[in-house]
Amino acid sequence: MTSLVDSHAHLDMEDFDEDRSQVVERAFEQGIKAILCPIEITNPQSIEKTLTLIEKFRGLIAAAGAHPHQAKSFSPECTRKIKELAEAKKIKAIGEIGLDFYYNLSTPPEQEDAFRHQLSIAQELGLPVIVHSRNSGKKLVLAVEEEHFSRGGVLHCFTEDWEVAKQMMNRNFFISFSGILTFPKAQLLREVAKKIPLEKLLVETDSPYLVPVPFRGLKKRNEPAYVVEVAKVLAEIKDISLEELSEVTSRNFGSLFSFEIKNLR
Ligand SMILES: [Zn+2]
Ligand SMILES: [Zn+2]
Repeated sequence: MTSLVDSHAHLDMEDFDEDRSQVVERAFEQGIKAILCPIEITNPQSIEKTLTLIEKFRGLIAAAGAHPHQAKSFSPECTRKIKELAEAKKIKAIGEIGLDFYYNLSTPPEQEDAFRHQLSIAQELGLPVIVHSRNSGKKLVLAVEEEHFSRGGVLHCFTEDWEVAKQMMNRNFFISFSGILTFPKAQLLREVAKKIPLEKLLVETDSPYLVPVPFRGLKKRNEPAYVVEVAKVLAEIKDISLEELSEVTSRNFGSLFSFEIKNLR
């Protein structure tokens, strides 16, 4: 059985309210060994649901941060909560944080402020970051540079170009691919993926979003068990076996989040 990790799944979302534990059990049956769940720090329910879930399954780890969409709600209270979770060793990373100039649900200045502030918290706490970027690659690299952020992390659900990937890898970042990699129209993305060294790669579902091919159109909701479909495509692109891809991405996950991968249950 393949041994895989899902580096990004929003299991706190309402989509999973009915069957959250079964979804995790199903991932376990498929050989998934670990799942990272980002807490949305501006949302008390997200904090509560995620903490309950990670208590229950030892293969689950959490991160916490304000998503760029929520940047307008980022406050000193959020900073306090993030630090409290870090202190209690409930989180292994700060995120997801970043910039999204496609949706602009918070204004670009609000996003930049929240992003830079959270980079500085991560640097202070010595934790890696989980970064979201959409149509914002250049600004993202600039912020990491100007904040002297050296701890590194992961650029999740990668959709930017090779230049951005290169710049971020130079700054200690891993690159994580989602179901987008399986979409027929994502040829350019697959070409970028081919160039990324194995030791910098991660895979994720970004559940409940981005259902991968072949489930696309058939399933309403993505879930961690489907990460294998992303891994299959990435293995093919890198011209290695699924086993090797699984092993290397699991190892990368363990080293980035200082987490020993055993079993999810
Ligand atoms: Zn994201
Ligand atoms: Zn996400």
